[in-house]
Amino acid sequence: MAPLDRDVVIIGAGPSGLSAAYELRKAGKTVAVLEARDRVGGRTWTDTMDGATIEIGGQWISPDQTALYSLIEELGIETFERYKQGKSVYIAEDGTRTAYDGEDFPVGEATIAEMNKLIAELDRITAEIDPDVPWEHPRAAELDMISFHHWLRTISSDESACNNIGLFIAGGMLTKPAHTFSALQALLMSASAGSFSNLVDEDFILDRRMVGTMQGVSIAVAARLGDDVYLNNPVLKLDWSQEGVTAYGADVTVNAKKVVIAVPPNLYSRISYNPPLPRRQHITHQHQSMGLVIKVHAVYSTPFWREEGLSATCFGPNQLVQEVYDNTYHGESTGTLVGFISDLKADAMFELSEAARKEAILQGLAEYLGERALTPEVFYLSDFGSEEWTRGAYATSYDLGGLYRFGPAQNENVGPIYFSSSDLAGEGYQHVDGAVRMGRRTAARIIAAVDG
Ligand code: FAD
Repeated sequence: MAPLDRDVVIIGAGPSGLSAAYELRKAGKTVAVLEARDRVGGRTWTDTMDGATIEIGGQWISPDQTALYSLIEELGIETFERYKQGKSVYIAEDGTRTAYDGEDFPVGEATIAEMNKLIAELDRITAEIDPDVPWEHPRAAELDMISFHHWLRTISSDESACNNIGLFIAGGMLTKPAHTFSALQALLMSASAGSFSNLVDEDFILDRRMVGTMQGVSIAVAARLGDDVYLNNPVLKLDWSQEGVTAYGADVTVNAKKVVIAVPPNLYSRISYNPPLPRRQHITHQHQSMGLVIKVHAVYSTPFWREEGLSATCFGPNQLVQEVYDNTYHGESTGTLVGFISDLKADAMFELSEAARKEAILQGLAEYLGERALTPEVFYLSDFGSEEWTRGAYATSYDLGGLYRFGPAQNENVGPIYFSSSDLAGEGYQHVDGAVRMGRRTAARIIAAVDG
């Protein structure tokens, strides 16, 4: 095929690349999107297994995620609420299982008080942080020097309270152990959701899902871009100068004025840049790494937990499966559970045989919801760590000290090269909403640069 000529070439057809392409197209620019996989959506991905809809990747939307809400409104996509009725289940560090109502974990008054103290302190500092520029906070350097694990313990000596609070950001969001990232990185995560209280409120952060699934959002945007989306076209080579770029896909080559690299930051180095990127980018890109989480899907003939008055919302900071939710898809009569196993516990799972892994994980679900959880009709594990074009989940974050040191330049373009990813977002950081925001923002910057 002869090389294509476009105003902008976009590498990666996840929500960020597609949002950028869509906005550029609306502004009258010509685009081509080159996608490595045989599908669009990136870290959002759906499959049907034995009749059940499984969202393998990103799926939830929260009320503050207004960029994503405005996009789905434009696309005519509806949402539905996660099933939240009934009691939640908490398993304490000593293994005690409690079904409870309300927001507070059933952990005893002293620990509740310490957890509330930690939440108040996290909310207080979060309110001072602009998620677009967390490195500008007056205490940013100091907060980026200390691990989240140790910082929590400077505020409270209640180990249980620190573990419970740590879970929300470590296992629950960044999917790395709390000793591997800084307090500033944790505060960016909470600032990206408006407050730490929002982040710990599962009814807020995991509020609703898309009718037609989250991947459906990318599919709908790609449909509007029509033939300008090229699947099965990993870009491994990019020539560039101040005048423009040439992106080489597997069977499509695109000459363009600008390029949007809309792949996760840990994959920037898969592309060979000619000439090489500047020193700053070479170094920065080595400090952004993916977390690791296994998303567990178990489908049952009925949502049996509802008969027992349970919502299937379960937490256990020391449990193999640290969080569980009712994930039954809109209109289905089967019952689906989703659970999460992160960082070190996820590593350990991949040391086991497939049969032993399944047995351990189902046992983990049964500890919360009883024996009936042991026999699902469908059992599936999302493992983005084994996906060549992602290599982890949910997203990338900096190592200790990296956010303050490298963050200020992470969104700068290098001549015609622009970077766009949920992992570079402020609001909606690590979420589809952030991917959409970054796509739109990058498109606006390019339009301003091209049109003057
Ligand atoms: P991606 O979605 O990663 O898209 C990047 C695209 O680039 C991919 O399609 C990839 O194939 C392609 N690509 C990579 N390298 C190349 C190359 N060299 N050439 C061409 N193409 C390339 N977010 C939420 O909002 N809610 C959730 O509930 C939620 N849950 C999640 C659960 C899981 C298991 C995972 C993995 C993520 C979850 N997320 C969630 C995060 C959300 O999915 C991501 O933030 C979002 O998909 C990022 O969009 P993106 O476009 O920046 O990157």
